[in-house]
Amino acid sequence: MIGLQRGISRCKKGSKNRYKMKLKIQRLYQKIRNARKHMIHDITNKLINENDIIVTENLDVKSMQKNHYVAKGLNENPISEIIRVLKYKANFNNKKLIQIDRYYPSSQICNVCNYQNRKVKDLSIRSWECPVCHTEHERDYNAAVNIMFKGLEKYMLYLEHGI
Ligand SMILES: [Zn+2]
Repeated sequence: MIGLQRGISRCKKGSKNRYKMKLKIQRLYQKIRNARKHMIHDITNKLINENDIIVTENLDVKSMQKNHYVAKGLNENPISEIIRVLKYKANFNNKKLIQIDRYYPSSQICNVCNYQNRKVKDLSIRSWECPVCHTEHERDYNAAVNIMFKGLEKYMLYLEHGI
């Protein structure tokens, strides 16, 4: 893609080659968009079919990476697109989609003893040992467990008190 983009800037403005190159790039973007659409439908179908309750972080990825994606000719960050599709599929299939506060420090909390380890804020730390209960954590797995519990907690509150 970068090669093509570079190629187009080398072609003379208004030339036949430049036009051809432009079409080539447009077709390639269309191909990527279609592949992405299929991938998102596969992932969301699997999640909806296999689970009755799905919990996600309410990520503000849109504003976080908007510029990056717009610059690449893709409309939306795939994660926010997945969440958007999950929302309507959950609705349609009578499943629960629960979103938790995006400021909840899911990757810093030990899912065993609840100790909050601020030292693992750094995204490059992929695994860590809890200094209190000494459980070994894989970053994403530990965060996923915390997100699941937080979501279930929110759901229980909703069932009990309607909040
Ligand atoms: Zn712990």
